[in-house]
Order: sequence, then structure tokens, then C-alpha cells
Amino acid sequence: MPTTERPLAGRTAVVTGSTSGIGLAIAGAMAAGGANVLLNGFGDAAAITELAAGLAAEHGVRVEYSPADMTRPDAIAAMVPFAEAKLGPVDILVNNAGIQHVAPIEAFPIDRWDAIIAINLSAVFHATRAALPGMKARKWGRIVNIASAHGLVASPFKSAYVAAKHGVVGFTKATALEGADHGITANAICPGYVRTPLVDKQIDDQAKVHGIARDSVIRDVILEPQAVKRFATVEEIAGLAAYLCGPLGQSFSGAALSIDKGWTAR
Ligand code: NAD
Repeated sequence: MPTTERPLAGRTAVVTGSTSGIGLAIAGAMAAGGANVLLNGFGDAAAITELAAGLAAEHGVRVEYSPADMTRPDAIAAMVPFAEAKLGPVDILVNNAGIQHVAPIEAFPIDRWDAIIAINLSAVFHATRAALPGMKARKWGRIVNIASAHGLVASPFKSAYVAAKHGVVGFTKATALEGADHGITANAICPGYVRTPLVDKQIDDQAKVHGIARDSVIRDVILEPQAVKRFATVEEIAGLAAYLCGPLGQSFSGAALSIDKGWTAR
């Protein structure tokens, strides 16, 4: 039974891309709230097994792992029944898996465009499509899509990511409208910069594109658009995701929630 301390007790949450960074913190926040969690993402098999066991022991919940590749619609569709067989009905879906590639449009590798659209946008559709029927039948569901400040504004050299994340914000609104009569909410979280492996790689890529040092990339490129020049923590993003799934979050639906230190206030 849900309690004030464990508002997600008895729920099952699927968190895509949760072997690292923001997704891992969201999996932790869901488990801390009392939800059983399906982890997903790439990584070393032994490390993932340890991660799952650690989360389960720390929070007294069940944690399983699906290796579903977010570029494969069939694997994404199968992830939901897999979660249901292992953990129970999927009440919470967090579409978090994402990749980035930084290059000018005319030099943007076509395979990177296709991969970013597949993982960052189409996977959100495929997972939502698979989870919605059960949520509708049970008249309760929480869908949280991790978009980005780049779901609301653009930066140069990130055309595929910006296109995908704007798509996620739009798709979230459509999901919210379709879920409204069925006890289902859908919201997008739009973080500014959070220091994760995804951003560390970008620092290297931007250094190459701009021909400047890593320190300059962090100060003059990465944090430049934010009013407050600091990275957010993964826990801050995870806290918002868990809040949206708890009782105090139930009136949010169709929102694109900025957590970007003033970036999109300009
Ligand atoms: P990360 O690189 O630390 O984690 C990405 C996760 O996605 C990993 O678990 C990885 O294994 C998984 N993944 C990648 N490709 C996959 C695939 N084909 N199938 C299944 N899983 C796959 O990145 P992060 O920074 O934690 O990013 C998480 C999400 O947050 C992404 O959607 C990203 O766009 C978004 N975001 C990040 C930031 C930031 O500053 N870090 C800002 C805004 C939005």
C-alpha cells in the first residue's frame, strides 16, 4: 500500500536507459518510493546484475533487467510483457534512453541521424504504444519522458537531437490528451545540462567542432545558455520524475517541465 514515505509502493516502473546517468538515478528514486523497477540499457552484464541486486536490497523492492535495444521496435514492444511477467503490471513508464551526436548539418552522419531519431524519439512511441493498453485497462498510468531544454530551444550542431526532443515534447502532449479519460498522465522533463557520460562525450565532441579546450567548452559552450552556470545533478531530475508519479504530481499532464537553471527563461 502506498504511504507518505513510500508513495509508489505496489507500483511497477519501467525506466529505459537506466544503466547510467539520469536513468539510473530515476530507477533509484522509483525504488526509494517503493516501486518495483525494470532496468534497461547497455553495459557490463555483471555490473548490471550487481546494480539490480543493490537497488533491490537497499529499497526492499524487486528489480529486474531487460537488455531491449531502443533502436528495435520488436524488442521495445516485448519489454512491457517481460516487465509484467517478472514484476507485475506496468504502471509507470519513464522513457529516458538517449544518445547525442554533435556535427554541422551538412556533415551530420546519416546513421547518427537515424540512431538519434530511433532511440530518442521513436522508442518513446514504441514503449508508450506497448504500455498504454494495460494502463487504460487498469485506469491508472504515469508516463514521464525525459526530453531536454533542446525540446524547447535549439543549439547549433545538434540538429538530430533538437528535432527528436522537440518531437518528444509534442508526443507527450498527444499522449496526455489520449490518456486523460483513463487516469493516465504524461509529462516531459526538460533538463539543462547534467554531468553524465552523455555530456562528458559532448565536451570532447564540441572541443573538436569548435577547436577549443575542454575547460573552454564547459564555460563558453555547454553552460553558456544557462543563466546559472552550474550542472544539475541526476538526483534533481530523478526527484522530479518520482514527484510526477506520486500523489502530489497527479495534476500535471501534457507539461514540458524545464529544470534548466534559467536557460529557456531568455
Ligand atoms: P547516459 O549516456 O549517462 O545514459 C544513457 C542511457 O541510455 C544508458 O543507460 C545507455 O545504456 C542507454 N542507451 C543508449 N542507447 C540505447 C539503446 N539503443 N537501447 C537501450 N538503451 C540505450 O546519458 P544521460 O545524460 O543520463 O541521458 C539520459 C537522458 O537524459 C537522455 O534522453 C538525454 O537526452 C537526456 N538529457 C540529458 C541531459 C544531460 O545534460 N545529461 C540533459 C537533457 C536531457
